[in-house]
Amino acid sequence: MMSGAHGPVRGIVESIEDLSSTFRRITFSGQELQDLATDGPFYDQRIKLILPNTAGALPDIPDSEDWYQQWLALPDHERGIMRTYSIRDLVRQDDTTRLTVDFVLHFADNGSTGPAAAWAAEAEVGSELLLVAPRHGQPQSGIEFAPGDADEVVLLGDESAAPAIARIVEDLKATTAAPRVCAYIEVPESADRLTIDAPGDAKVTWLPRGAASAGEPLADALGWHVEPDASDESSDDLLWETPVFSASGEELTEAAAPQSGTYYWIAGESGVIKRLRRFLVREVGVDRAQVAFMGYWRHGVAMRGQLTGASNCYCTSQGEL
Ligand SMILES: Cc1cc2nc3c(=O)[nH]c(=O)nc-3n(C[C@H](O)[C@H](O)[C@H](O)COP(=O)(O)OP(=O)(O)OC[C@H]3O[C@@H](n4cnc5c(N)ncnc54)[C@H](O)[C@@H]3O)c2cc1C
Repeated sequence: MMSGAHGPVRGIVESIEDLSSTFRRITFSGQELQDLATDGPFYDQRIKLILPNTAGALPDIPDSEDWYQQWLALPDHERGIMRTYSIRDLVRQDDTTRLTVDFVLHFADNGSTGPAAAWAAEAEVGSELLLVAPRHGQPQSGIEFAPGDADEVVLLGDESAAPAIARIVEDLKATTAAPRVCAYIEVPESADRLTIDAPGDAKVTWLPRGAASAGEPLADALGWHVEPDASDESSDDLLWETPVFSASGEELTEAAAPQSGTYYWIAGESGVIKRLRRFLVREVGVDRAQVAFMGYWRHGVAMRGQLTGASNCYCTSQGEL
């Protein structure tokens, strides 16, 4: 596939670093990455990965505006699988563009995992996949982090959101008049505390889950204990509610831009995030304009990996390319 202004670019694994038994950092380079926009800040910029198909080959996708429709029209065995990830780093140096992704190697007790985690676990230097990420000259889209005039930012997330939180915190360090930042990151174990180059006054708290149930440490960090709620288990849809977009079709507040005060950015397993949302919005009464809640994955559900709908969308929340 030739690089162009529309479709995915081919990423070639340049290096792999096992940060812990949970996180595997993979850096991609390759000629086609030169076309990516490397000017930050990236914050929680989402990207799409298209994994090799069942024959182990990357799908042949035309470099045209309707590349996505053409990709969807490919037979299943040729198409490969699309998943959503975050930019941990994207830099251009010495004429080479490198994009780094921190993959969670999630394996259930029975050894089952998903195609993206399996791909990351087996990747070697030279392995290839396709990346859908912002190109030079394209309008910015795919960033949800929007603190507006907030003077404090509270970030909460599980391991899937750790790369986005780390990027947000590091980007805020380089921002003048940045809000105060306070981050809580729930991870499987103590060894999963990663290095974040945080501003001096930032408070970053790693919350090893250990034997606790998923979401409990995050809920505790919010001063509240998560109660299981069976009524939320019926839908496979991810929670995605930001000041400007609601996946559930809930009416949006008129004041979409966060005001002064605290802005909450919360991402992780969808059921956990729903419960944190309920606590913050319904019980504490935090204004919806001050919060962004995003389900990054759903327990027991394989992601659909499409470009429609906010969570699976590389593009804007409204679903534009
Ligand atoms: C905007 C956005 C940014 C994201 N950024 C990152 C990122 O930078 N790094 C990252 O690792 N993930 C990230 N994720 C989450 C990632 O897209 C999902 O974890 C995705 O499901 C992984 O695909 P898969 O093919 O491995 O598993 P799937 O085929 O989607 O799922 C297979 C099974 O694995 C389970 N599963 C999926 N993810 C997890 C998990 N994290 N922990 C435990 N079980 C899981 C599912 O419940 C399902 O039962 C992001 C998601 C979004 C929406």
